[in-house]
Amino acid sequence: MPYTYDDQNIFAKILRGEIPAKPVFESEHTLAFPDISPKKKTHVLVIPKGPYRCYDHFVQAASDAEQLDFFRSVAKVAERVGVAESAGGDGFRLITNSGANSHQEVPHFHVHLLGGEPCGPLVC
Ligand code: ADP
Repeated sequence: MPYTYDDQNIFAKILRGEIPAKPVFESEHTLAFPDISPKKKTHVLVIPKGPYRCYDHFVQAASDAEQLDFFRSVAKVAERVGVAESAGGDGFRLITNSGANSHQEVPHFHVHLLGGEPCGPLVC
């Protein structure tokens, strides 16, 4: 079944400037901003600028340039916010929820970057 994309989701509105956000990083195809309800000391959301609903939609439909830009940007964000080992940090966790069983609430593909303090074992 083809993926659909609802352009009224919160992150689409942030990308259009209809809802404010304070980006910590921006590139040609990618934007990163703090999560409004942080679960760790550092909690940043990294999103592609294109209209992709979830991880699998992004991998299937985005261009190679968008995908390369996105995955490189995640690493750049980790450096910029100081959680990457290369920036003297103690590491980070990446999470992406894809679809109903994962508890994805915002239907625009995003990666949660969590760090700044220990995350503990993965719990589902
Ligand atoms: P879950 O809520 O289960 O983590 P998602 O993976 O879809 O579901 O995550 C959506 C995230 O978006 C949540 O962590 C939420 O706090 C965050 N969020 C919602 N609205 C905003 C906003 N306006 N600015 C920044 N983050 C937001």
